[in-house]
Amino acid sequence: MSDDEQIYDYIIAGAGSAGCVLANRLSANGRYTVLLLEAGTKDTNPWIHIPLGYFKTMHNPKTDWCYMTEPCEGLGGRSIQWPRGKVLGGSSSINGLIYIRGQPEDYDHWRQLGNAGWAFKDVLPYFKKSEGNERGSDDIHGGDGPLKVSDSRAQRELCDMFIDAAVCAGIPRTNDLNGIVQDGVAYTQQTTHKGLRCSTAVAYLRPAQSRANLSVVTRAHVEKVLFEGKRATGIQYRTPSGMKRSRAGREVILALGAIGSPQILMTSGVGPAGHLRDHDIDIVHDLEGVGGNLQDHLQVRMVYRINQPLSLNDDVRNPLRKAMMGVNWALRRRGPLTFAASPLSAFVKSDPKMATTDLQFFMQPLSADSPGEGLHKFSAFSTSFCQLRPESAGHLELKSADPHVYPAIHPNYLASETDRQAVIAGMKITRKIIACEPLASIMEEELYPGEHIQSDEELLESGRETSQTIYHPIGTCKMGSDAKAVVDQCLRVHGLKGLRVVDASIMPTVPSGNTNAPTIMIAEKASDIILGDLG
Ligand SMILES: Cc1cc2nc3c(=O)[nH]c(=O)nc-3n(C[C@H](O)[C@H](O)[C@H](O)COP(=O)(O)OP(=O)(O)OC[C@H]3O[C@@H](n4cnc5c(N)ncnc54)[C@H](O)[C@@H]3O)c2cc1C
Repeated sequence: MSDDEQIYDYIIAGAGSAGCVLANRLSANGRYTVLLLEAGTKDTNPWIHIPLGYFKTMHNPKTDWCYMTEPCEGLGGRSIQWPRGKVLGGSSSINGLIYIRGQPEDYDHWRQLGNAGWAFKDVLPYFKKSEGNERGSDDIHGGDGPLKVSDSRAQRELCDMFIDAAVCAGIPRTNDLNGIVQDGVAYTQQTTHKGLRCSTAVAYLRPAQSRANLSVVTRAHVEKVLFEGKRATGIQYRTPSGMKRSRAGREVILALGAIGSPQILMTSGVGPAGHLRDHDIDIVHDLEGVGGNLQDHLQVRMVYRINQPLSLNDDVRNPLRKAMMGVNWALRRRGPLTFAASPLSAFVKSDPKMATTDLQFFMQPLSADSPGEGLHKFSAFSTSFCQLRPESAGHLELKSADPHVYPAIHPNYLASETDRQAVIAGMKITRKIIACEPLASIMEEELYPGEHIQSDEELLESGRETSQTIYHPIGTCKMGSDAKAVVDQCLRVHGLKGLRVVDASIMPTVPSGNTNAPTIMIAEKASDIILGDLG
């Protein structure tokens, strides 16, 4: 094992959505030395930068950790794939590019849980600071931030028809799904710039990478945090040239994501004491909540065959139209290759009595047997939805003390009756939209789950059989002050010194929407907290 001679002020473990933000902000004033460690490679694969390229990078072990969950009772005993980005930019380099912040009430709830400084009024400045929205700035949006946010460059007749049908079904048309009130249907804004993906590696790391005080090491698999007593003093990591240790003069910051951060805390001796003892890990600090509170959005998909050649399936089947897709992107950075995972979203209440929306609907003008597989050879489109604030929470635990062995992921989907009712309600609302014009006239058949599925029991059963993650795991190092909390409101690990966690794992509850923008907001705010602590 070799010791890196240099002591860095800050060592950031993980160059994902949060890690790249931290690396930029903490190195910006030039006063502090920063080491950023990432297990994946540089983001040189061209498919990372072409928006629709997530079909090539997701489930690809060169860019995706390719986790699998343990069998889940709520999904009829199925194990499902859990992609996570393994490359500079992390999951922001392979994600579906949808830019959604959630509802103001989500953050007010974090504050209600005791986390001072995390109410919507407190986090809004950080959403704005990060955001470079091509529509410009206003009271709630930023126009100059590093994270470029753009309108869709691939509006399509079939998507327009879905929006019109949703409006006909009673869902209001909106122009801003990130407004103070979230309700409504619209084309989604996305984290792209001039038709190219804007990951945090592109937005935050590239502009900082030439700074003399920032060192970035890729293919560096973090194995454990090093401690002297209760103080974190460095990191041990493995590179192709062997095991190394680097020392942190000020702080170690874990930004390894909702799976990596709790896993590495536990392999370092921070976690539930009984569980660590089972794996013969020396206990640095008994912290019951590490790996608990695992929340995710479950995606239920439905597929519709149509009688008009309006879907992307038709473009891909036709050699001329397929070639035009490539030409359109190469020359104009427009067309289907710029698609986010869903070009549009609708936020809807499953019950009008609810205070805020609890379901998010998506629509893709294409279809396949499962996401990422070859497109169907007929005209069809897919819709899906997820419940925004699931009650079911799971946990993550070690299978081994070896940090290279993936942990066991127990998502515990659909454990609560509320969550099961949301599946049934979402499928019924989808059918209501599909039955409205202008979609009704082009409808041929419901392929999944199929019109024979009618009763609530049948709907739920088909949801159990086919649902997938929508890739939003959070909460496994949650912020708070209760017995299960892992970090405090300044994101310092309870009971230890010199160690913070800054990534999606600190969220106490999952926001009502996609999780990339909230994670970037967290890292922006954490950077200010850390620099502020220095006076
Ligand atoms: C396929 C997919 C689609 C998604 N679609 C959307 C979307 O459309 N919109 C949206 O808002 N959100 C989306 N998300 C979710 C969003 O991207 C994540 O919530 C967010 O990126 C999480 O950021 P993070 O910093 O917590 O983790 P990550 O971005 O995953 O970063 C963690 C980093 O740590 C590295 N790492 C982990 N373990 C180690 C280790 N032991 N040693 C060294 N490095 C390590 C990883 O390689 C990674 O680079 C999607 C996610 C995925 C995977």
